[in-house]
Amino acid sequence: MSREDYEIVIGLEVHAELSTKTKIFCSCSNEFGAEPNTHVCPVCMGMPGALPVLNEKVVEYAVKAGLATNCEIERNSKNDRKNYFYPDTPKSYQISQFDKPLCKKGFIEIEDEEGKEKKIGITRIHIEDDAAKLNHNEFGGGSLVDLNRAGVPLIETVSEPDIRSSKEAENYLRKLKSIFEYIEVSDCKMQEGSFRADINLSVRKKGAQEFGTRTEMKNMSSFRSIVRAIEYEADRQIEIIEDGGKIAQETRRWDDVSGKTFSMRDKEDAQDYRYFPDPDLVAIRLSTEYIENIKNNLPELPESRKARYINEIGLSEKEANLLTASKHLSNMFEETSNICKNHKLAANWLLSDVSRILNEKEIEAEEIPFTSEQLAKMIMLIEKGTISSAIGKKVIEELFEDPKDPEEIIKEKGWIQISDEGAIKEVVQKILEANPQSVADYKAGKDRALGFLVGQAMKETKGKANPQMLNKMFIEELKK
Ligand code: ADP
Ligand code: MG
Ligand code: ZN
Repeated sequence: MSREDYEIVIGLEVHAELSTKTKIFCSCSNEFGAEPNTHVCPVCMGMPGALPVLNEKVVEYAVKAGLATNCEIERNSKNDRKNYFYPDTPKSYQISQFDKPLCKKGFIEIEDEEGKEKKIGITRIHIEDDAAKLNHNEFGGGSLVDLNRAGVPLIETVSEPDIRSSKEAENYLRKLKSIFEYIEVSDCKMQEGSFRADINLSVRKKGAQEFGTRTEMKNMSSFRSIVRAIEYEADRQIEIIEDGGKIAQETRRWDDVSGKTFSMRDKEDAQDYRYFPDPDLVAIRLSTEYIENIKNNLPELPESRKARYINEIGLSEKEANLLTASKHLSNMFEETSNICKNHKLAANWLLSDVSRILNEKEIEAEEIPFTSEQLAKMIMLIEKGTISSAIGKKVIEELFEDPKDPEEIIKEKGWIQISDEGAIKEVVQKILEANPQSVADYKAGKDRALGFLVGQAMKETKGKANPQMLNKMFIEELKK
């Protein structure tokens, strides 16, 4: 038996930090990156007797997320206490939602391994408070707690176990991230932990009806590690089963350096958190008008942008898919084409050279250092004939290194295309004199010789000669 005889089953729990101004149950700032323990008050520090008040924006954002992922919205919802002790949770309970999450029974569409549309079910989306952050081994050992993160609003999106490979998991997460970005409920900065996933994974023999026992890997926040962790964990489980062993239901930790997962703690099926409705908070009642109003004001979603690109702009399905996968990339596309008035070229440059460099650098579209205006200017310089496309490629590389006005770049580097007739003629003459054999070949009917001569002229001018002019001038001279 081998890997091919097994099916991987994955369900994902995603925590997204909401980009509200204030925290979920107090008026402390929700801004990221402040001095530790400066955004705190008795409520988020978990002082006994301090009273939480639910931030209405949190409900609004969660409902937005639910509507954008085809969920039913629960009109009678509430907050429940989930009781457990952990040093990053001074209250000794988290305020989450148990049996009445704000959103349930949704789905999003992703591409499967073959590029076909596939629906992934969303079990629920609920609101809860984030825990504080423990900083380990600072100041010579020990751990220090930063309560700025305590009370940061989260939505947790739980998927059905519908995902079947690491590629599907990545596609699902990218899609969910892009939806949250489009509707502006979270900045989804993975490097800051505002979009992180718990991976539940089991394997079973192909054709089996029952799911296998699952393990869980918590708080994964890079696509690369998520894919690697899934591949490793699936192989590990298959090997155990092949050897006649049993999978222990447990939480495992992914270690990026060794590329392995390690057991952290057992997890029995029915962990008893003693959930009960938080007596300090009122129940949440949503009117139909409230929900309708949010629905009617939802920003454009990736699916509808995609349709617009295909039907109105004439991009291919693949191009539209790639561009709308990231809100930032898609915004850049629209801004760039608005300035340079050329959709096709804007799409081409973003999807070829810019995307290639993003891959090489292993960075996301949000981290593109140059502006849409700079990209548009570069495209217009090509259209005007000031630079060739070959030089355009070099300008893009340069924009990634030291973003500034492309005109300045080409001036500094001396990359301006030679379109001056006199200068072109001079080069043509020089190349003709140096290559009498090619001239003779051309005159004897070998058209290929022309290509060679143009190539030589390009070499001579370091790619700066206007290729159309070169071609034309060579033909004229050779006819003489
Ligand atoms: P918990 O509250 O313990 O995290 P849940 O029952 O809410 O557990 O499930 C969490 C996630 O695990 C869901 O995304 C679900 O789809 C997924 N899941 C459940 N059973 C399996 C399984 N056998 N294999 C893979 N994923 C699973
Ligand atoms: Mg879980
Ligand atoms: Zn506070």
